[in-house]
Amino acid sequence: MRVEAVELRRVRLPLVRPFVTTAAATTARSSVLVRLLTDGGEGWGECVALDAPHYTSEYVEAAHHALRHHLVPRLLAAGAVAGEAVAQVLGPVQGHPMAKAALEMAVLDAELRAAGRSLAARLGATRTEVDCGVAVGEAPSVGALLDEVAGYLDQGYRRIKLKVHPGADLEPVAAVRARFADVALQVDANGAYSVDQWPLLAALDPFDLLLVEQPVAADDLLGAAEVARRIRTPVCLDESITSAATAATALALGACSVVNIKPGRVGGLLEAVRIHDLCVAAAVPVWCGGMLETGLGRAANLALAALPGFTLPADLSGSARYFPLDLTEPFVPVDGRLAVPTGPGLGVAPLPEELEELTVSVELLRP
Ligand code: MG
Repeated sequence: MRVEAVELRRVRLPLVRPFVTTAAATTARSSVLVRLLTDGGEGWGECVALDAPHYTSEYVEAAHHALRHHLVPRLLAAGAVAGEAVAQVLGPVQGHPMAKAALEMAVLDAELRAAGRSLAARLGATRTEVDCGVAVGEAPSVGALLDEVAGYLDQGYRRIKLKVHPGADLEPVAAVRARFADVALQVDANGAYSVDQWPLLAALDPFDLLLVEQPVAADDLLGAAEVARRIRTPVCLDESITSAATAATALALGACSVVNIKPGRVGGLLEAVRIHDLCVAAAVPVWCGGMLETGLGRAANLALAALPGFTLPADLSGSARYFPLDLTEPFVPVDGRLAVPTGPGLGVAPLPEELEELTVSVELLRP
C-alpha cells in the first residue's frame, strides 16, 4: 500500500471534568491525529501523548514535531509500506513511541479497511466485548471519593482504580473497601514510592487489591522486584514496560506479576501484541490501560483488549465519562462492558461535523 500523503491534525476536546494528577490539572485533551491518504483509501491514527511530560517524557507538542519533521518524512519516503513494517521504517528515530504508534495505527487502519477486515480480527481478538474499569482521580475528600466511586458502580463499572501516593494511600483504600466490600479494587502509584517505603504498600495488603500498579520509578526494575517480594498484593508495571524486551526483563527479574499494556507507550499495537504473547506464555495476566483517548484510540484499545490474555478489566470507559463531544460516534457501555468494533479497520472514523468543530489546525504532508 502506497502512502500518498499524510495529514497531521491537531484537535482539542474539552473534558467533562478536569483531569487531575499530582502534577497538573487540565480541562481539555489536545491530541495529534494522523490521516493517511493511500492508493487503497484512507486510514486514521491517534497519538496519545498528553499535554505535558508528566506521565512519560513524550508530550503532544514534541510528538507533533517528531511526526512533522522526522517520522512522517520517513514513512512517505518508504513508498509502499505494510503495517508490520512501520516500526522498522521508523526505527532510525529514537524514542517517540506514541508518535510512532499513531502512524502504525493509521497504516493498519488503511490496509484493513481496504481488505474489509477488522483490527480486532487482525490482532487476534477472541472476545466481542470488554469489561470496563474506571480510574478515579484525586478527590478533595474521602467523602467525595466515596460518592464518586458509588456513582461509577451505579453506572456498572466492573473495577475501580484509585490513585495513591505516600500520605494518600491507606485512608482512601480503607474507606473504599469498608464501604464497598466486594468491589474489584486496585491502586496506581505512578512511581510515587521509593523502594524503602514498601511498608506503606504492605499496609494495603489486607484490603484484597487486585494489584498495585507501578509502585516505584519506571527505570527501577530491581526496586519493583524488591517491593514485589515484600508485599502480598501483586505488583503490576505500567510506565516501566516500554517494549517486549523490557517486559521480558521485568518478568525475568520478578519485578511484576501483572502487566498494563498501552499501545502508545510501547510504540504501537503490534508491539503490544508481542507483549501480550510473551505474558500469556509466562501465565502473566495483562490488561489494557487508557490515555484519555478519543473514539479512535478507544476503538483500537478495544480491539487489543479483546485478545485472550487480557483477563483483567480495562481502563476503558464510555466516551461520556471524558468528553461532552467525541470525534466518533460515542462509545456507550452496556452493563459495564463495551462492544469491540467489528467494522473494517478501526471500525470507526471521525464524524465530519465533530471533527471540524474540534480541529485546531491541519497540515498536509506529501513526499
Ligand atoms: Mg498507570
